[in-house]
Amino acid sequence: MELDQLTDWLWCLRTDFVNAYAVRDGDGFCLIDTSTANNEEAILELLGGLAGSAREEVKIVEIFLTHGHSDHTGSAAAIVARTGPRVVAAVGDAPLIRAEQSAPPPQLTDWEVPLFEQVMPGVPLEQRLAPAAAVVPDRLVRGGDTLDWQRPATLLAVPGHTPGSTAVWFESERVLIAGDAIASHNRRPILGVFNADPAAARDSFRRLARLDADLACFGHGDPIRSRAGLRLAEVARSL
Ligand SMILES: [Zn+2]
Repeated sequence: MELDQLTDWLWCLRTDFVNAYAVRDGDGFCLIDTSTANNEEAILELLGGLAGSAREEVKIVEIFLTHGHSDHTGSAAAIVARTGPRVVAAVGDAPLIRAEQSAPPPQLTDWEVPLFEQVMPGVPLEQRLAPAAAVVPDRLVRGGDTLDWQRPATLLAVPGHTPGSTAVWFESERVLIAGDAIASHNRRPILGVFNADPAAARDSFRRLARLDADLACFGHGDPIRSRAGLRLAEVARSL
């Protein structure tokens, strides 16, 4: 896992497959997503490096999960067990996050079929949709709710990828963390892939494009580091 500093308060925790984000919060951090399973040590090690402390001493205040897919919730249970942060998630994906349900199957477009096979070759569909280790959210939220972090954020319901997909909008800094509602490929924003409800996902993309974000960050692919709103609006027109 690699750490990529995006602003003086925001870092991307990146594997070759998926991104999670760390937001500085006092002498600790809040996390947006937790990457795939078994990344807890890497996350704490990297954040310890930032905080100048041993990984055992890293303070994680709160985790917000953008949706219930296991590549975003994978290390949440282990981080909770290690450092005890509160977990916040949207009502709509809570059954996935509590591992009571599998994710709804995506309605794949023709071009997504080979990509879906490439992501987890040979793994049966049930396993691909299976939840990660269960986490019980301490707080369930809906669109319009806020995260009461040192740097406050508004939560935006962006259904489509999953029913409860939720983006995080730091309005005063114009920073958007879109989860999988948007992705980027070769530094171009695209509609996130593998959507349970593609029409809803397109609507959600259009709403996010109207925010006029400066920095936009995604679950998969590189962030768009400046004037992201213009790029998103361009793509939204072609959806
Ligand atoms: Zn996803």
